[in-house]
Amino acid sequence: MYDYDLLVVGSANADLVISVERRPAAGETVLGSDLAVHPGGKGGNQAVAAARLGARTALLARVGDDAYGRLLLDSQRAAGVDTVGVLVGGAPTGVALITVDPSGDNSIVVSPGANGRLTPADVRAAGSLFHASRVVSTQLEIPLETVVEVVRNLAPQGRFVLNPSPPRPLPQEVLAACDPLIVNEHEAQVILGGQVSERPEDWARILLAKGPRSVVVTLGAEGALVADADGVVRVPAVPVAALDTTGAGDAFTAALAWRLGAGATLAEAAGYAARVGAVAVTRRGAQESFPTAQEVDAL
Ligand code: ADP
Repeated sequence: MYDYDLLVVGSANADLVISVERRPAAGETVLGSDLAVHPGGKGGNQAVAAARLGARTALLARVGDDAYGRLLLDSQRAAGVDTVGVLVGGAPTGVALITVDPSGDNSIVVSPGANGRLTPADVRAAGSLFHASRVVSTQLEIPLETVVEVVRNLAPQGRFVLNPSPPRPLPQEVLAACDPLIVNEHEAQVILGGQVSERPEDWARILLAKGPRSVVVTLGAEGALVADADGVVRVPAVPVAALDTTGAGDAFTAALAWRLGAGATLAEAAGYAARVGAVAVTRRGAQESFPTAQEVDAL
């Protein structure tokens, strides 16, 4: 019996957003809008997305002993995430400083802060969470050696899901544990080291040959591809009027991981995740845009 459907190990950031008429050049000062603070980070986003769907979700992350850390803990708890695994202190909370111009183009500086201090020892100390969780999901906004330690601490029947974002080459040990590895086009190109053909079906096959038990390639408004030993299957997107795609990949990954743990096939889980991603892109923001299961069913 598992206590959690999903354990997310990953980053939590405060996104500090200012709208500007023009993004500043070197040495320049521009005046902008009032500051908006949004809870973010790929780990925090995935945990909120899963919990809002009704998954019993825990987050293993690190935030600073500061106001942003408390804000992030509050927003996780409000969504229903169990924050017993969120460690506090060691560095300031991770932040993303974001300026957005009227065309929607942005400039972003990320200070990983406490996310960079989530260590392999923190993972080892959280062994009971790993044993209590059906599926474990991570991203790459925490140190790679911490992700390696996650793979080494999986429970015997535990399933591992990785969205390698921001992308970098992955050790074989991590690739071999992925079931699935979930990538968008950009991430696929980095993992494949540039040896990319025109057809996403080929990326999926070549990625699969690198060792993961299964692969999912997300294609935005084109939907997704799932690949495993049975072959490659295309999962259509749900047609919607997209307003803001921020966080769509995180919502997709969380939904997919949850459904896989509930016994769905990879294609079924990706079909459900595509519906979750479709709702998320019709609303502004990241965590604010993630739907409940009822909202997904109503789509
Ligand atoms: P990322 O944000 O990681 O780049 P994608 O943009 O590929 O990820 O989005 C993840 C998933 O969300 C897609 O596979 C698709 O199912 C859904 N999605 C994204 N954009 C749209 C869209 N414009 N219309 C419908 N579904 C979308």
